[in-house]
Amino acid sequence: MQAAPAATSITDPAAFLDQAESLRTKDHPRFAQMLEQIHRETPLLSAGEQWHLRYLDAWETMFKGDYAGSEAQFHEVIEHSGDATLAAKSSALLLSNLAANRRYEEAFTLANRITSDLPAVKNPLARSMLLMNLSQMLNLAGQTDLAIKYAQLMEDALPAGESLCYPRSLQVAALFNGNRLASSNPELQQAIDTCVAAQQPVLANTMWLVLGSLYLKENQPDKTMALLRQIAPGIDANKYYPHQLSLKTQMAQAYWKLGDDGDARKAALAAVAMGNPDDINEWLKDAYEVLYQVEKKHGNATAALAYYERYAAQDKGYLNDIGARTLAYQAVQQQVLTRQLETEALSRQNAVLRMQQALDAKAAEASRLHSALLLMALTFIVLWLFRLKRSQLRFMRLSRRDGLTGILNHQHFINEAERILRLLEKKFGHACLISIDLDHFKQVNDTYGHAMGDVVLKLAVAICQQHLRPSDLFGRLGGEEFGILLHDCSREQGLDIANRIRIAIGTTPMEQDGSGVSISASVGMASTDTSGYELQRLCKEADSALYRAKRAGRNRVIADIGDGGLVEA
Ligand code: GH3
Ligand code: MG
Ligand code: MG
Repeated sequence: MQAAPAATSITDPAAFLDQAESLRTKDHPRFAQMLEQIHRETPLLSAGEQWHLRYLDAWETMFKGDYAGSEAQFHEVIEHSGDATLAAKSSALLLSNLAANRRYEEAFTLANRITSDLPAVKNPLARSMLLMNLSQMLNLAGQTDLAIKYAQLMEDALPAGESLCYPRSLQVAALFNGNRLASSNPELQQAIDTCVAAQQPVLANTMWLVLGSLYLKENQPDKTMALLRQIAPGIDANKYYPHQLSLKTQMAQAYWKLGDDGDARKAALAAVAMGNPDDINEWLKDAYEVLYQVEKKHGNATAALAYYERYAAQDKGYLNDIGARTLAYQAVQQQVLTRQLETEALSRQNAVLRMQQALDAKAAEASRLHSALLLMALTFIVLWLFRLKRSQLRFMRLSRRDGLTGILNHQHFINEAERILRLLEKKFGHACLISIDLDHFKQVNDTYGHAMGDVVLKLAVAICQQHLRPSDLFGRLGGEEFGILLHDCSREQGLDIANRIRIAIGTTPMEQDGSGVSISASVGMASTDTSGYELQRLCKEADSALYRAKRAGRNRVIADIGDGGLVEA
């Protein structure tokens, strides 16, 4: 073991704690060392300092991946410290903690509360942390645009001394999760440069790992490999579990793509050994996939099968996880659209806070000016709120439709489906929920371009509409995923309609400007006859039928027939 550098003893604990906090991601080993030192020397701390220390302890516990431990510590600070700023910072972290534990409903409930408390949070750092974690949550819920917006809000009101690295990397993360990022995007390089210049290695590593996985996606494994070699020492030094896991997994994927099976297997095994056996995540899924492919290629059928099962479990778990996030978000975030408007109110508020900060500096001589300006700002906000109210009504109408295809958007589809199911339940009516996902749609975008992809989406929607009645509900649930609630419809009729839609999608030529594309769709169905009238259950069963349809080779309809049974149309 290396001897710790001779530390000077702590004379000013408050300043020492502040300094430690400022180093938490910038120089994490030093931060951990300082925490240890203050515990070892146990200087006399005021109550406020003790709470500050407990908060930093909680931060470190979470950083190391002990989410249950840090959760209790954060609650303690939120409920008992009596310090609004520490409590706000702890709430921000608790939010990502809950999300990391996949307790999405609690997380979104907390996110909602934080959003409405945000205007009262005046401490710039606490506010900035809250915006940061809200952006992360929205990103998790697949709300790319909102996630970017919150990151932008954070960037606009960055406290003095904090780096642009945080908001910029959040924007990149949102673009990445929304499938809107390529390795050549300038935003990515800019975020990397900003984080390197700000000496924020943890975030710089996150950005580099994003770049590595984009290279993989773009089939440039040699570039991934060169990059990983360069960043591996820094990642090992920081001991941040998600980074270590992601590094090893990407390495395995790159070796595999480069044809080096031995090293691919080694790296994948290292990744798998690092993970907690109960973990479900994308990296473990990818690592098992590499192991499966290597064993299959070498004719080790038993090992290949065993790894395939692990891979499939991870894959399904991961997809369920995404589904769970989306459902939790829908369940909690009924007012998401008004929230979207509130973010604009927050930008205004940011402007006022910035003004206040500037004014604080010359408070003494400018107190009259101060109140005049604040009054102006208030008037502005009142006027603006008035306008907001008006535009909300217009927005409400627009907000129900998907911008590209004109059919119901996810949120409104869910709301309407709930309503219709309640009505049907009362009169013991029948309904079928159909979940449609276009097959290999990414290839359409990759081969013909995103614009053509959009045309195909619109055509697919038009085809579906030809088979629906006015009383059926049709919505876009995500990128190339659609939901249909067939009203007053038995399972047999539902299967028939679903199959006709599938055949029509698979046989209608999709053309524009002379170039034609052929596509197909996989369809999953659940019926109230066997699944009851709870939308959540219907969605879940239709989704797992869809998942089976994909697994069975795509371009087919599979329906849930109760008691876990499935049937193909
Ligand atoms: P699978 O058969 O397994 O479903 O394969 P897939 O390629 O369809 O699935 P995946 O979920 O990997 O890809 C979905 C793609 O849909 C990725 C994304 O680029 C694309 N997509 C999502 N929304 C839009 C959109 O609005 N327009 C276009 N053109 N493409 C979109
Ligand atoms: Mg899909
Ligand atoms: Mg698809």
